[in-house]
Amino acid sequence: SDSHFPVPTSPIHVDYSLHYPQIFSSGQVGSARRIQFADIGCGFGGLLITLSTLFPDTLMIGMELRDKVTEYVKERILALRVSNPGQYQNVSVVRTNSMKYIPNYFEKGQLSKMFFLFPDPHFKEKNHRRRVISPHLLDEYAYALQVNGIIYTITDVEELGEWMKACLEDHPMFEPLTDEELKADPVVGLLSSATEEGQKVDRNGGQTFQAVFRRIGMADSV
Ligand code: SAM
Repeated sequence: SDSHFPVPTSPIHVDYSLHYPQIFSSGQVGSARRIQFADIGCGFGGLLITLSTLFPDTLMIGMELRDKVTEYVKERILALRVSNPGQYQNVSVVRTNSMKYIPNYFEKGQLSKMFFLFPDPHFKEKNHRRRVISPHLLDEYAYALQVNGIIYTITDVEELGEWMKACLEDHPMFEPLTDEELKADPVVGLLSSATEEGQKVDRNGGQTFQAVFRRIGMADSV
């Protein structure tokens, strides 16, 4: 249960030195350099590992509910840091329930990218409230994202893909990227190719459904 992992009371209490020890000295909180990418339900961490070297100056974090999976990702990052000195210092993972604690980790307008890749489908109507994309949670994501920040979603479950797209289309703070923008964004292709779930779907010849939206600025809040 949630009582088994600590939760920072607010984003300034997130200890960056635990996550990025080479970049932050011990005990430093409320640092100037902030996390910009969040992979929600990061699983085994494949996307983050790829993004770490692609965006070496950007701090990124995975949020994962399962304890053992989180420990695996931690070990994976530590091993990569050891075998590639100076690299993978910008990537970390935390065990948490992202549906409850996003505001504890990120300040308003902090994130430039959020990822929701192959989330659990929760098929039954009564379980839709447990989906990680919902009208209510999109309010929180819009708060954490900066203006022009991007939210990436992908799934192999068509019904969930339609749900996530509809939630984003209906939300006043998001607009879809154009086809040209999708083609120009090097991250879009990684949603399938760099994630463990995407690779599995690919091996089985399955279809995927993606929705990539931009956080827009309202006239009174830009
Ligand atoms: N994104 C990864 C990928 O594409 O390979 C993993 C996809 S896996 C099907 C979904 C992951 O989301 C699981 O590892 C699960 O433990 C995690 N998860 C589910 N609910 C969560 C929550 N409320 N907070 C954080 N992680 C969650």
